[in-house]
Amino acid sequence: MSEPMAIADGCVVTMHYTLRDANGQLIDESDRDQPLAYIHGQGNIVPGLEDALLGRTVGAKFDVAVPPEQGYGPRTSQGPQAVRRSDFPDDAPLFPGMGFAVEGPRGQEIMLFVTEVHDDRVYVDTDHPLAGQTLHFSIEVVSVRQATAEEIDHGHPHEDGMHYH
Ligand code: ZN
Repeated sequence: MSEPMAIADGCVVTMHYTLRDANGQLIDESDRDQPLAYIHGQGNIVPGLEDALLGRTVGAKFDVAVPPEQGYGPRTSQGPQAVRRSDFPDDAPLFPGMGFAVEGPRGQEIMLFVTEVHDDRVYVDTDHPLAGQTLHFSIEVVSVRQATAEEIDHGHPHEDGMHYH
């Protein structure tokens, strides 16, 4: 009998998760048929959850509360800003919660998140929709294995159905 592999940098981990807010309201959860896969140590998931997974083994079940500083950051924006719908490509899929990068005034990359979509205008916010929130995760580790060199190179796992390029 060999020891189960402990989660460390360079592992591909699959897990089931539920994410709830401070009131216990469900925000997101993994598909029952397809656990979420990520590569540990590459910033694929929020830092607080990555830290909580370090050293866990297959079958581990635990809850963790991740504060904003270890999650999607504090709330910093003044609130959503309206942008003309016509400023987006006609065929751009726009939905609340989606994020996209734009170039800022000094050439820096700025992430914007869609909060509302109307016929003529779209509201966007510089804060992630979950900024300022403590994230309450319930986790079940489904599998742990060593990432391949190709996966490390690509920065994402090649689990079945997860290879999206
Ligand atoms: Zn790939």
